[in-house]
Amino acid sequence: MADENAFLPRSSMDLPRFAGAMTFMKLPLVEPGDPCLAEVEIGIVGVPFDGGTSNRPGARHGPRALREASGMIRMVNQASGIRPFHEARCADLGDCPVNPVSLDDSLEKIEGFYKDLAGRGVRPLTAGGDHLISLPVLRGIVGDRAPVGMVHFDAHTDLYDAYYGGYRYTHGTPFRRACEEGLLDPRRIVQIGIRGTAYDGADVEWGRANGVRIVMIEELADRGVDAVMAEARSIVGDAPTYVSFDIDGLDPSMAPGTGTPEIGGFTTREAQRMVRHLAGLDLVGADLVEVSPPFDQGGLTAWTGANIMFELLCVLAAVAAPHR
Ligand code: MN
Ligand code: MN
Repeated sequence: MADENAFLPRSSMDLPRFAGAMTFMKLPLVEPGDPCLAEVEIGIVGVPFDGGTSNRPGARHGPRALREASGMIRMVNQASGIRPFHEARCADLGDCPVNPVSLDDSLEKIEGFYKDLAGRGVRPLTAGGDHLISLPVLRGIVGDRAPVGMVHFDAHTDLYDAYYGGYRYTHGTPFRRACEEGLLDPRRIVQIGIRGTAYDGADVEWGRANGVRIVMIEELADRGVDAVMAEARSIVGDAPTYVSFDIDGLDPSMAPGTGTPEIGGFTTREAQRMVRHLAGLDLVGADLVEVSPPFDQGGLTAWTGANIMFELLCVLAAVAAPHR
């Protein structure tokens, strides 16, 4: 058993928040092979891959920008009262190996990395990467077990069947594949923030025909965050659930650095409130994807994304606590 302070971020009263090497929130770096990995309950993982992008690329640079921005975040969530680093043993596990010139090889590498974490009982909080990475992450976490539910924040359903003449692995298709592969139960998926123009509407049609609850942004605006999240909680229930947060769910005025922006999105304040509603669910992991630093303005999107990751960490940690 490591020292009880071994899994805390380095104190900002010791080294200022803007200084020093930057892991996620200055957590200890615990890479593969480190014996401390056996004690980690929540692992932050970067997946620097954007080979599934259909439009503007750059999300491969997301993990580094998110870590850099995260250094400014403090340890206590004043809204929820959650102190994640006192609820669960957390560490930054570094970046998952990927192959920038092979999508197929990257899918295999990512799945293998997460399968190993799942076998060790580590619950991952992932920094993408484009949204295709959620598929191999789910393959690794869920494997042959029963399909899990998902709360999914996004401007897009990512439920299309294929792009570019039948190619089935893109950032617009991961959750169609995950349903087909028995990783996700479509009747326990809630998608929030969907909007914008569509190719043909086949994604929404397929989702609704298979029981996915799709909350368009107009419905979110009409009914409000609290009502929609109460419904989301009732749909995923007490069973294992994954959380996937595409930064383009936010309005591009607050998150411009992303590959597929859509106007009319939810605000950062609404995003924080929605994620806080997830506390107490049986969460098996979470991701924050599609931050593309080359399109960012003054680091705004990375800053927003890092703060949403902190909110996700808080609800993951709130789940971890009862098991200790
Ligand atoms: Mn997406
Ligand atoms: Mn999206």
